[in-house]
Amino acid sequence: MNYNFTSDQLSLRDMTRNFVEQEVMPIAAEYDVKGEFPMEAFKKAADLGLTCLDLPEEWGGAGVDLLTTALIREELSRGDAGFSSAVGACGLGFKPIAFGGSDYQKRKYADVVTGGGLLALGLTEPNAGSDVANNKTTAVKQGDKYVLNGRKCFITNAPVADIITIFAITDPEAGAKGFSMFMVEKGTPGLSTPNHENKMGIRCSTTSDVVLEDCVIPAENLIGREGDGFKLVMATLAKGRVCAGASALGVAQCALEHALKYAQQRIQKGKPIYKHQLIQGKIADMGMQLEAARQLVWRAAMAFDANAADTDKLASMCKCFAGDMVVKVTSEAIQILGGYGYSRDYPVEKLYRDAKVFQLFEGTNEIQRTIIAGSMIREYKI
Ligand SMILES: Cc1cc2nc3c(=O)[nH]c(=O)nc-3n(C[C@H](O)[C@H](O)[C@H](O)COP(=O)(O)OP(=O)(O)OC[C@H]3O[C@@H](n4cnc5c(N)ncnc54)[C@H](O)[C@@H]3O)c2cc1C
Repeated sequence: MNYNFTSDQLSLRDMTRNFVEQEVMPIAAEYDVKGEFPMEAFKKAADLGLTCLDLPEEWGGAGVDLLTTALIREELSRGDAGFSSAVGACGLGFKPIAFGGSDYQKRKYADVVTGGGLLALGLTEPNAGSDVANNKTTAVKQGDKYVLNGRKCFITNAPVADIITIFAITDPEAGAKGFSMFMVEKGTPGLSTPNHENKMGIRCSTTSDVVLEDCVIPAENLIGREGDGFKLVMATLAKGRVCAGASALGVAQCALEHALKYAQQRIQKGKPIYKHQLIQGKIADMGMQLEAARQLVWRAAMAFDANAADTDKLASMCKCFAGDMVVKVTSEAIQILGGYGYSRDYPVEKLYRDAKVFQLFEGTNEIQRTIIAGSMIREYKI
């Protein structure tokens, strides 16, 4: 593996870091309390091209690879994991179109993202979270239209999205081949986004249900062909998991920085607490776990960039490892800050709340472990 980043990668990372320190970090606590989406900051990120970096250049993006995207997502998340999740959800909404859409669809929807619009991916349903195949939303073809009915839940960006990519059944008899993906535009009659989630963390990203009631869309909004849905959504989630892992790194990095600073300022028993060996052990473990997760995220990203064979396993490994790591590291950051770490007047309790979701979304860490073990058994079949 070669981690000699190019000057373009490093300058993009530095530009993102500057943006985050100027525009995201100063408002993160306020939007966490309000539980509101910071649209103005998002538009500024879009103006810098940060919300569509991986779009191909011919559609107005920067065409960066997954490794570069991972660097950027870590930086965004170091500022605020909710903000980074909103950017990530745009990518999740667009990827099925990028993988399977027509040129017309790609251009039309790339214009939305490059113009500072938002996308969302509508997959999860009240009775179909981990069990994707149990989705019940239907899309019935009627002439040159589809009629969609169903309810999605926990959809990041849904209330602010210009386009929601919806996973629905087109052939109930065809099992996994009976699902298709559709683009549903904001304002389409029959589309609504009720039930805003009052979340524990990543509170500035907005999350709600998506209800489709006799929602009529043009047949040209089908992405790819009927029956492509499962394939498109799995490919989307695999790449998305590398970005989720990268975002977990940013939260852990931020928590570690706060802990390192505090450990040098806080005096107990006549010396800064970092001079107590048990605190040193915590600092060392936090640093090791974070760096190990970072290597795994970069390794997975580079495997995708090289079209390697074991990308799904590596994506699950990095998402799962980084998701568990960030919960541990943010918890230890609170421990280092002692009682102050538990106070909302200090930033690390927010980071701990933000961290938990990395074990849950984009496939829970239990599901990641089943994917990893399944791949390992297939690779070592006796
Ligand atoms: C903040 C947030 C944002 C989200 N954003 C989006 C989004 O933008 N788009 C979208 O479509 N979804 C989104 N989700 C949904 C998320 O992907 C699901 O919550 C997740 O897939 C788990 O589904 P579930 O909540 O129904 O849990 P369940 O699937 O009901 O799982 C409950 C528990 O059982 C375990 N479990 C379930 N099945 C198995 C199994 N086979 N083996 C072992 N353990 C199992 C799980 O690991 C978990 O611990 C979001 C969720 C959150 C919290």
